[in-house]
Amino acid sequence: MSAQREGEEADVAAGGRRVGQPRVSAKTEGHNPFPVVLSSPSGAGKTTIAKALLKERQDVGYSISCTTRPPRPGEVEGKDYYFLDRAEFVRRIEEGAFAESAEVHGSLYGTLKAEIERVLGAGRHVLMDIDIQGAALIRQAFPAVVTIFILPPSGEVMLDRLRKRKTESKEAIVRRLESALRELQAIEQYEYVVVNDVLEESVRRVAAIIDAEVVSRERVAGLREQVAALIQRLEDEINTHSS
Ligand code: 5GP
Repeated sequence: MSAQREGEEADVAAGGRRVGQPRVSAKTEGHNPFPVVLSSPSGAGKTTIAKALLKERQDVGYSISCTTRPPRPGEVEGKDYYFLDRAEFVRRIEEGAFAESAEVHGSLYGTLKAEIERVLGAGRHVLMDIDIQGAALIRQAFPAVVTIFILPPSGEVMLDRLRKRKTESKEAIVRRLESALRELQAIEQYEYVVVNDVLEESVRRVAAIIDAEVVSRERVAGLREQVAALIQRLEDEINTHSS
């Protein structure tokens, strides 16, 4: 069998798409892209999951948040965050630039409306790594949002991951632990829960949630029209046979 033929067979097996190759755009496949919120207490590994998912899936884009916290070593302006000072952040709130914003661990964080529009406009699901307050606001603004809560496999693993973050002061870590307590209590507001034990498995689960949501009845674009056309076609056929 030729390589091209094999490729064609793989295409068919994946419903028109090569096995293992992600969709480039949700829109081109007849689905409306939607926001996907990931929340978790610090140390659950949510940001690592988000990064791995973005590497794998071209149909998912990242909403880069604004924050007033200083960059950590290795963080890049315009990639990890837009780093703003408080005055600039407040100015942006006042001009209505944010879809949501919240104070987290003593700093301001916010999702720009323009970021959401940029990613959805490119036909991609928009992944947001935001806290529980932001998630509640996004849920109100975008009822189509999918919310996923990432849990650490145990308290020990979570504390261990936090301790390894040597970039933070003791006070900052205590603040994170206090907000972790509050975050855990909000878990019931989320539709999905992924326990982050093995990273690859967690990424696979988040991807599976997105795939399932894509084909959920409410989301299939033009479903009513498609079904009406099918019904019409069947009725025509029945009439032809019975006349
Ligand atoms: P970190 O400082 O560790 O990057 O993030 C601290 C917390 O702020 C995390 O829970 C993260 O999800 C949350 N966060 C990051 N960006 C945003 C945002 O745009 N809005 C809100 N509400 N929370 C955010």
